[in-house]
Amino acid sequence: MRRDMLTIGAFARACRLSPKALRLYDELELLRPARVDPHTGYRYYAVGQLEQARLVAWLRRLGMPLARIREVCALEPAAAAREIRAYWARVEAETAVRRDLAAFLVDHLTEQEQSRKDTTMLELRYFAHSDRGRVRPANQDTAYAGTRLLAVADGFGPAGAPASSAAVEALRFLDTEEVPAGGVLNLLEDAVRGATEAVRDATDDPDANGTTLTALLWTGSRLALVHIGDSRAYLLRDGELFRITHDHTVVQSLIDEGRLTEEEATAHPQRTLLLKALGTGTPDLRLHDAAPGDRYLVCSDGLPTVLPDARIRELLTTGAPDVAVRALVDAANEAGGPDNVSCVVADVVREAS
Ligand code: MG
Repeated sequence: MRRDMLTIGAFARACRLSPKALRLYDELELLRPARVDPHTGYRYYAVGQLEQARLVAWLRRLGMPLARIREVCALEPAAAAREIRAYWARVEAETAVRRDLAAFLVDHLTEQEQSRKDTTMLELRYFAHSDRGRVRPANQDTAYAGTRLLAVADGFGPAGAPASSAAVEALRFLDTEEVPAGGVLNLLEDAVRGATEAVRDATDDPDANGTTLTALLWTGSRLALVHIGDSRAYLLRDGELFRITHDHTVVQSLIDEGRLTEEEATAHPQRTLLLKALGTGTPDLRLHDAAPGDRYLVCSDGLPTVLPDARIRELLTTGAPDVAVRALVDAANEAGGPDNVSCVVADVVREAS
């Protein structure tokens, strides 16, 4: 045997992994022995493979999928470092989605306790408008606002318009339905399923057509958010603007992974490419406590594409909901109106007695 070759036992001792782990890495093609004796089947490893064996072990401890470990191990150190950073950013983004879902469930279950004690009567004042913009031949957005439901859907594909209107139409029963005590989860689940089916029925080719959906459902003291795609919801509270949705776009995931800055993203040629839309992924769910004076904005991507958040905040800060909606839509069009633009603005106010 050559001097720089180690038996599997010696190699295992040197890299502090078990021979069993090494055999597994071989089977998974994560770390192939430098030589396998054709007669005995014994595995031999090169001294130079020690580092890689350790790297594989650490990446497995990190929870990285096997296919990705294979890719990382084939890279130069600098590129491997970038891959690991990107992988971890993705894990954190996914954890954030699960954290929000956990918070939603905690809020939901807490609400069942609190709703009996709640004496403040709140309601929504709202306005919705959808505009074709200055460039697109047709409006494929749908916007809706009612006493309980606020929704924006942005359709895509040749049947984008019927897709977005079918999604919103399917949710409209929520506007008249009293939310049953403790029934929000079921209601949202039914609503999303109904909207998904309606979109499928409204288009011939579900692969070529679809829609985003961002909706807020008023429960009497809270707003339940359903969100999938790149339409957005914002909350203006005490003069500060908070974006309460996360874009499900390829570009946003590149930002999350640290491969792209927010600034670079605005000019990215694929910034409209969606990661998921209604029917092709799980929507994000969230519950928001409503406070008198809160103002919500739901909009299609046609607005933030041309207006930075600071400008949206400025235009959103003054006037009744209809004034704010008109100001936002006008500003998008003045900025070129490259896309359809839809805005829903709703204020949380004390119920008029
Ligand atoms: Mg759009």
